[in-house]
Amino acid sequence: MDSPLRFPDNRETMYHFLDEILVICPHCRKCARNHRLEPDNHNLFAPRRLVCTHCGLTKTWAELSIASLWRNDPPLDNYFQVPLWLSIPCANNILWAYDQRHLEVIESFVTATLRERTHDPKYGWANTSLVSSLPKWIGLAKNRASILKAIAHLKTRLTTCGNGTSRIRPTRACSTTASRARSLLF
Ligand SMILES: [Zn+2]
Repeated sequence: MDSPLRFPDNRETMYHFLDEILVICPHCRKCARNHRLEPDNHNLFAPRRLVCTHCGLTKTWAELSIASLWRNDPPLDNYFQVPLWLSIPCANNILWAYDQRHLEVIESFVTATLRERTHDPKYGWANTSLVSSLPKWIGLAKNRASILKAIAHLKTRLTTCGNGTSRIRPTRACSTTASRARSLLF
């Protein structure tokens, strides 16, 4: 019998995935990046900058509040409120990720045949990690093929992000019922 593909939950939360957020540039609709002005300042409200190397757009964010990380509907950047670059209709929902690492964690979770939770010495078994708070449809076996297909599509967007040739187009759904798509919360 094959050994299971394990996914150990390392208890990273959504806050650990905010170093860089890939977005659709509001000016040229190519890939732009939202990052912290001070890379080592991991405060949720640390000032940020949106930079598009394609058209030269730069915007700075320095506010006292952001859109909720848990109510991202439709999937927008929490700071500048522009659509995420990595977003695609899938299985009657919308699959989205902030960046490549975020996408790869979701891929590992979906691919795994054994998902392991870990006990936090401070918070016990509370569902605070990114993967333990993924919406249910992400973890359903019946959606695995559709989700992996959608992830593969998003990876092709990653490969073109930053080379000046990519421009976002309306996305074809990975399932035939995506016209009824709605986004869920990660
Ligand atoms: Zn631009």
